[in-house]
Amino acid sequence: MSHLQEPGNGYYCANRENCQMPRKRNAQVDMDGAEFKKAGYRLIDQLGDFIDQIGQKPVTADKSPAQLSEILGRNPLPEHGQPAIAIVDRAADLLCNFSLLNGHPRFLGYITSSAAPIGALADLLAAAVNPNVGAHILSPMATAMEKQVIKWLGELIGLPPCYDGILVSGGNMANFTAFFAAVHAKVPESKAGGIAASPARPLVYCSRTTHTWIEKAAALSGLGGDSIRWIATDKANRMDLHALQEVLQADKNSNQRPIMIIGTAGDVSTGAVDDLKGIAEICKQHDCWLHIDGAYGLPAAAIPEQRRHFEGMAEADSIALDPHKWLYAPLEAGCTLVKNPNHLIQTYSSHPVYYNFNQEDQPEARNYYEYGFQNSRGFRALKVWMVLQQAGRKGYMEMIATDIRLAALLFRLASQHAELEAITQNLSITTLRYRPPGLPEDQLNQLNELLLNDLQRNGEVFLSNAVIDNKYCLRACIVNFRTSDSDIEEIVEIILRGGRKAADHIKNKSV
Ligand SMILES: *Cc1c(COP(=O)(O)O)cnc(C)c1O
Repeated sequence: MSHLQEPGNGYYCANRENCQMPRKRNAQVDMDGAEFKKAGYRLIDQLGDFIDQIGQKPVTADKSPAQLSEILGRNPLPEHGQPAIAIVDRAADLLCNFSLLNGHPRFLGYITSSAAPIGALADLLAAAVNPNVGAHILSPMATAMEKQVIKWLGELIGLPPCYDGILVSGGNMANFTAFFAAVHAKVPESKAGGIAASPARPLVYCSRTTHTWIEKAAALSGLGGDSIRWIATDKANRMDLHALQEVLQADKNSNQRPIMIIGTAGDVSTGAVDDLKGIAEICKQHDCWLHIDGAYGLPAAAIPEQRRHFEGMAEADSIALDPHKWLYAPLEAGCTLVKNPNHLIQTYSSHPVYYNFNQEDQPEARNYYEYGFQNSRGFRALKVWMVLQQAGRKGYMEMIATDIRLAALLFRLASQHAELEAITQNLSITTLRYRPPGLPEDQLNQLNELLLNDLQRNGEVFLSNAVIDNKYCLRACIVNFRTSDSDIEEIVEIILRGGRKAADHIKNKSV
């Protein structure tokens, strides 16, 4: 009997008499069910407590990068493996205690939502089964579920059923995926010949509030940053459509080639929604692709009272929408939707000989590698699939409307207080500044910047900033189902305390 057949060394044979070869390798990273359950139950217990206690913790532990490296330890790569349980415990301890908690009820920074806990279970399940959602044959059920998620997203915001698309890592990727499809559709000769093959310079139009993705997209697509026509905004931070018409006409008169207009549905700084219907009209006149960046704001279209802001949305050739923002999915989940899915296929599909993905008896099989940049793809759709069902349309309407109501409450409280100035409120974004009577205007920017930096470090609340008409503002974006009315009232008190401290600091410095 060879040592391979001895019991207890990790190998077993189905047929002991004839067994020559090991049936099980005992690989370092393998875990059996019992070991997996033990580590997993412990982790789930810790995370359950983390969820219960998140509101009592500081929003941030405020450690410097050097302190964090110290806590983490500067060990080299371990030579030998370690037991899974110890590694999982340590990771949970590090992350639960030294992270910025964007699930905290008083985290209102940037546009990062509280993540629905069901999403954590989804990611666990997705990673355990590990379907490769690049091709139907590699992920039969996961592909069907992603298709369903994309249909549901369109239904939630009220798009007609012709829209289809793909899930991507976030808003930037959702916008890039659409942008390249637009360039390919409008400058088809560029697929082989590059942008240089276009007889006239292709140009894209967007307002000054457009998110920075547009600069990366223009530069990296070969159009070049100078192909962006930055259109001025009106008093409400919306694209000025008269200015747009003028610039377009001038470009046409000088034989340039307008190909695309980008409307923003919820701009990052103030939440303003462009006049999408007006932009759609202009797109038609000039035969331009209409792209709508609704990464943040579009979920509000699920609410009847908000829908008028998004009129014209269904004219879009392409749309970007982020489930990891206002649909509360954990990072990462963005979505590109296109009116005609062939535009994605024409842009991204290729058929190498080493893929046997297209069976003739299954013409409806969806191969997502043909719809976007990625080849191998994880199952990010699962968390969206789960959270959409946990909330339902009604749940989203309720949560999103509450976020908007709380943003309006913050605006109202700020406008009622003598030391605060409310600046803007659109959708769930409110901007304001601390403005003590008597302090001259030219010191207010410095004061509010000092205040924001202090607030971001002290762990009671997390806000971000916006600069509006040269005013440095505090900015609260509520995409947080844990935030309550009393949090908003407390935040006002925290801002006032911090503001008075910052004002003293400035006065003392100038003495
Ligand atoms: C957040 C945001 C983006 C970028 O999305 P990421 O998910 O951070 O990549 C793009 N456009 C708008 C309008 C956004 O709000």
